Amino acid sequence: MGIPAGAIEALRDARHVLVLTGSGASAESGVPTFREAQTGLWENFNPMELATPDAFLRDPALVWRWYRWRRELVARAEPNPGHYALAGLVDRIPQLTLITQNVDGLHQRAGSHDVVEFHGSLFADRCFDNDCHLDAHTSDDELPRCPQCGGLLRPGVVWFGEPIPPAALDAADAASRDCDVFLSVGTSSLVWPAAGLAEIAAGRGATVIEINIDATPLSGSSHFVLQGKAGELLPELLDCLDVEEH
Ligand code: NAD
Repeated sequence: MGIPAGAIEALRDARHVLVLTGSGASAESGVPTFREAQTGLWENFNPMELATPDAFLRDPALVWRWYRWRRELVARAEPNPGHYALAGLVDRIPQLTLITQNVDGLHQRAGSHDVVEFHGSLFADRCFDNDCHLDAHTSDDELPRCPQCGGLLRPGVVWFGEPIPPAALDAADAASRDCDVFLSVGTSSLVWPAAGLAEIAAGRGATVIEINIDATPLSGSSHFVLQGKAGELLPELLDCLDVEEH
């Protein structure tokens, strides 16, 4: 399937492109999405029941073991051609805002700067009890403690049911209102409030382009749906942008 000419044209004409990525953008790096079966040790656990404050309060050591396993998995993974294509897109568009729901740091490792980490990061811990300021603190202790208040540390990710970090939410809201192309990549469009950003953008006249291997709730209202793998379609998109116009 080729990339529709209208999608290329919208990107060529764009002043500000907002890219929102989800776990599908990292799937080809070998990082499983939440909707894929967990493997090995964790196959009997449901991520929706581990990634919550209640799960942490019930059994912090179990939740920490899961996050340490995910950290190791991600540390062994490499960015894929989709991550690199997005890092290259910045040179072809006057303004690009990259917002990711991923916590794996792979966009940054591929060379993207100023990535808005909507759901935090696997590689920064936070104090569970207080708003202690920690500089990207991570620990390998079984139950790490806050160096400032002595309370429990927790992974610095946004769990289900938790608010988005205000700075990320403000940046996402502003970019959604300002962009003229909204490119959704490898996200199920089921997790809110990220799932609502495309609607804000479309409501202000932006062209919505979706890249996903499957249909999602966003597909029906997208102007262009590119069905396929992010690691293949994004480099193809970049190639099309580089071809001289006639
Ligand atoms: P999701 O797991 O709900 O959905 C993934 C989407 O990616 C699906 O729609 C699927 O069809 C699509 N997909 C899978 N492989 C693809 C590919 N190769 N190319 C294009 N699309 C592909 O993920 P979500 O929407 O990001 O939401 C789940 C939450 O889980 C998010 O908060 C996310 O932060 C978190 N999560 C993050 C990671 C990570 O950091 N890599 C991994 C798992 C889950």
